[in-house]
Amino acid sequence: MLKSSLLSRSGQLWKFIVALLALLIGSFAPLYPALGISWTAGTVIAVMGYAFGIVAIRCANCSKRWLWEATKGAASYTPLFKASSCPDCGHEFS
Ligand SMILES: [Zn+2]
Repeated sequence: MLKSSLLSRSGQLWKFIVALLALLIGSFAPLYPALGISWTAGTVIAVMGYAFGIVAIRCANCSKRWLWEATKGAASYTPLFKASSCPDCGHEFS
């Protein structure tokens, strides 16, 4: 599924993974004191990861920020994982 996704076709899957990992680590690492990550640091890591995804994941053709658009409606996430073209300008990524 991910191999044919818009994210991987446009070469931006790594950005999504980095953002997701930061979000998960920032959210769950503070639950384990042995990791030495405070709730404050965890929150900063999570917010930075999400912000990175929103700013960095964009259409190479029209510069539309896909993740930002998806925050406005959950249905907008679907094209990022299933479509092969930009949901906004229709640019085809191969
Ligand atoms: Zn576009």
